[in-house]
Amino acid sequence: MKPAGKIWFNYKIVPSTNKLFGFNQALNYGAAVYEGIRFYRTEQGPAIFRLHDHLDRFFYSAHTLRMKLGCNKQQLAAAIKKIIKINHLPCGYIRPISFFAEAKMGINILDTKVDTAIFTWPWNDREIPKPTCLKVVKYRRVGSDSLDVKAKIAGYYATALLGFIEARESGFDQPLFLDKNGFVAEGAINNIFIVKGKTIYTSKSNSILGGITRDTILTIAPDVDLRVRLINMKPEFLNTADEVFLTGTGIEMQPVTEVKRCFKNKNKAWPTTKLLLSYYQKIIQGKIKEYKKWLTYVN
Ligand code: PMP
Repeated sequence: MKPAGKIWFNYKIVPSTNKLFGFNQALNYGAAVYEGIRFYRTEQGPAIFRLHDHLDRFFYSAHTLRMKLGCNKQQLAAAIKKIIKINHLPCGYIRPISFFAEAKMGINILDTKVDTAIFTWPWNDREIPKPTCLKVVKYRRVGSDSLDVKAKIAGYYATALLGFIEARESGFDQPLFLDKNGFVAEGAINNIFIVKGKTIYTSKSNSILGGITRDTILTIAPDVDLRVRLINMKPEFLNTADEVFLTGTGIEMQPVTEVKRCFKNKNKAWPTTKLLLSYYQKIIQGKIKEYKKWLTYVN
């Protein structure tokens, strides 16, 4: 339904349309789904990392909201490659986003028109993220009894934003969330790993988005002689860590200097984090044969 005659917008009266300024259920209720994907320079030109896993998650998220995307995974993959080529980017970040695009009132999103956009940004693929410090914030991550945690839906990020504000206003870079049982869940937009000797631990909580980077790390760790364990960990467990790092598509792996009252990095060299990161970087550049299957070449 088109809104009535005119709209007040930025101090002007403008004609109404049912597709204007992003006024839609995405803006009102966070009814949008998106992905963050990176692509890297390789000897065979730009290659998108784990594109098919990102597309699977994107389509899963869209299905969760019963979005009719009007394209299949192959078509979206082709569109992503096309926009990378058109923008002449050797390496960067891709953000496909689909959202309910009509200016409708109410929460009935069923049978609503969906728009899809793909944005790209240049992102230097040799850049290593700066070490970061975290605060365990007061808000908890909700679990699979409240949301489909495997979907990446914009509205879920309200907690991430509130946690981010709390962390920043307390002098920390980013929030760390516990789940409703008090176990360590994840960061605002990343997963957390704890290194102890030759073992790396990550949360097995059902209140996390089990990230694609987390899965990459769990898969490749044994190649560099590290054991992996999925556990329910209380924040006190971080006290016993040798190193802590975050994972996510954007940051890849980010070393953690401190988690307020839970962890302080003593070994500034982050040997295990760096070992994994250098192996990860070989993989994304197509230098490890076994994992070339994770690369989709743009050309
Ligand atoms: N948790 C949340 C809540 C996220 O938004 C993200 C980013 N997608 C991650 C974890 C990390 O996921 P990935 O490694 O797939 O980027």
